[in-house]
Amino acid sequence: MSHETYLLSRIERGDSHTLAGYEAQGGYAAFKKILSEGTPPKDVTEVVKESGLRGRGGAGFPTGLKWSFMPDQERDSRTRYMAVNADESEPGTCKDRVLMERDPHGLLEGCLIAAWAMSLHGVYIYVRGEYRLSYRRLDEAIQEARAAGLIGKNIQGTDFSCEIHMHKGAGAYICGEETGLMESLEGKRGHPRPKPPFPAGFGLWGQPTTVNNVESIFNVPFILERGADWFKAMGSEKSSGNFLCCISGHVEKPGVYEVALGTPASTILNEYAGGVWHGHNLRAWIPGGSSTGFLRPEVIDTPMDHDSLKEVGSMFGTGSMIILDQTASVVHSALVLMDFYEHESCGQCSQCREGTQWLAQVFQRIHDGQGRMEDIDLLSDISNGMAPGKTICALADAAAIPTHSVIRNFRDELVEYVQAGGHTAVSKKRALPMETV
Ligand code: SF4
Repeated sequence: MSHETYLLSRIERGDSHTLAGYEAQGGYAAFKKILSEGTPPKDVTEVVKESGLRGRGGAGFPTGLKWSFMPDQERDSRTRYMAVNADESEPGTCKDRVLMERDPHGLLEGCLIAAWAMSLHGVYIYVRGEYRLSYRRLDEAIQEARAAGLIGKNIQGTDFSCEIHMHKGAGAYICGEETGLMESLEGKRGHPRPKPPFPAGFGLWGQPTTVNNVESIFNVPFILERGADWFKAMGSEKSSGNFLCCISGHVEKPGVYEVALGTPASTILNEYAGGVWHGHNLRAWIPGGSSTGFLRPEVIDTPMDHDSLKEVGSMFGTGSMIILDQTASVVHSALVLMDFYEHESCGQCSQCREGTQWLAQVFQRIHDGQGRMEDIDLLSDISNGMAPGKTICALADAAAIPTHSVIRNFRDELVEYVQAGGHTAVSKKRALPMETV
């Protein structure tokens, strides 16, 4: 499969994580050009807006538009920050890790360009605690860049100054939610805050703040260097550029692949990941991280972009596919997910605190053979009480959406579990191994 790649273009070099390796491949050219030419910050934001870059962290919000929400500095002289969300915790998602481990200067250059565009005073990179190599590589890269005069005061002899700081998370999924992340950065428990106020008006320590995902920021130097039209020429009409697709589960070659937005999911599965393993059939797939729900094999040709996935009742999310083969149980997989969301709920909202617990319990009893037919409607009622938009953050939605997807797309399996008497009986009936993901 040939298509233009750029996100992973540098990582083949063994020294791609060093300043020397990065600069040898043209690194920091875009940032230095902006600095030396004194490009007006608004023009930089305009190019990012024009490119159509959408956030790669889950919500798919246009990055340039988000930047433009920061208050005008002439009217608001408060200290301004960006927080980079590197707390990659969505099950099935491991793309930002590759960028941070193998090409950390690419992220730093994106941060510096964002800092110029939004006149930031500082950038905080919040790295998932388990990502030890990512943390170390970024830390070393910051030291190298600082020694080279690319971070700190009067960068490259100009009036522009910017600090980049690192912060290590402590393992809570909810700190990947932007306001939970900011609370955690401020040294408090990572409890999401109600919105409004939005971070651009009241963010870190009450100052204007933008929160962006690693891959989103990583795209920025390429866009500035090659232009918005170059970026828009890749991908689909409303979802431009390439994205990193992590594909995992029952495939021959799980991994992180760079593909254009709009590439059919079947192409990613069959041509990049080698197809469903052992020649098995596809039972179900999740398109963009666990919170985007279970889809049927009949829609595997859906283009991987925001609008197309919405049409089949799902979301692009983090663009991370999870594949389940014919031996997998969707009910069991949903139970694993509900246990996860129950564990990770911060407990502030009763709909989420109680709802995730109830979803896990009802899936558990259906799985164990004590389910009743009316439990299917009960799952639906509980999910309707949790989402959408009924809680402080979207974790409740993240549990409700997969539940609705099981009821909508795999009701036959729920009925089978209730009628046959649970997981053991269903596995025996299907004469299949009890293997699940
Ligand atoms: Fe916490 Fe859940 Fe409410 Fe989010 S939705 S704030 S995780 S209780």
